[in-house]
Amino acid sequence: MKMTCIGWWGAYPEAGGATSAYLLEHEGYRMLIDCGSGAVSHLQQHVNLAGLDAVLLSHRHHDHTADLGVLTYSRVVDMALEHTAAPLTIAAPVSDRDFFASYHREGSTEMMYYDVQDTLHLGNLVFTFQATKHPAPCAAVKVSDGKNTFVYTADTSYEDKLATFAADADLVIAEASFYAGQDAASFGHMTAEEAGIVAEKAQAKELWLTHLPHFGRHAQLEEEASAVYTGVVKLAAEGRQRSWHEK
Ligand SMILES: [Zn+2]
Ligand SMILES: [Zn+2]
Repeated sequence: MKMTCIGWWGAYPEAGGATSAYLLEHEGYRMLIDCGSGAVSHLQQHVNLAGLDAVLLSHRHHDHTADLGVLTYSRVVDMALEHTAAPLTIAAPVSDRDFFASYHREGSTEMMYYDVQDTLHLGNLVFTFQATKHPAPCAAVKVSDGKNTFVYTADTSYEDKLATFAADADLVIAEASFYAGQDAASFGHMTAEEAGIVAEKAQAKELWLTHLPHFGRHAQLEEEASAVYTGVVKLAAEGRQRSWHEK
């Protein structure tokens, strides 16, 4: 299993960047988790769009879905040009079924709706979820290849149960939209310190901070998480990769 960060900004991408998007590859299966603004352009630095099997969305907010529409257009074009015969699977939360249904392109996409209680199988990967505390229905995502596990918090304010969900993960990608001491909770987000607390309580092996703010000094986020978490802390960055040996 290999994870590559494609986009990491919160809210909107700064020049040359992208918001939430993570490429996951396993045994030839390629998929995206979230498809934020700039994702389709930046994804092509790493893979051919026609080779993408699926996209899974954590919630409907634009910084996680802005490029979903154009990604479906790319599949319409790639199928017409016979670059691929396979429709793109779109796995979306059933809580916003009507919103996501508008992205369906007959013949070019296959919709799959998940509930947070569901266990989803995409390729040979297993996905489980936990509802987060956020203004829109949102799911934290846990991915397992049978040997290694990584957890993506998606958007959320701090809750103890996040650490339970992320217990013993090899990698936690946690949102850090604010700095320690700021009131992240009233915006439905976490501080870097809270992300560190989640990773520490979970005894996760590594933590990446993502969904980063448009203010302050990002290195400070890393320092704040490191002050409360004993594992490895990194800032998400485009192209940052973590891979685990396949079974
Ligand atoms: Zn959100
Ligand atoms: Zn967001």
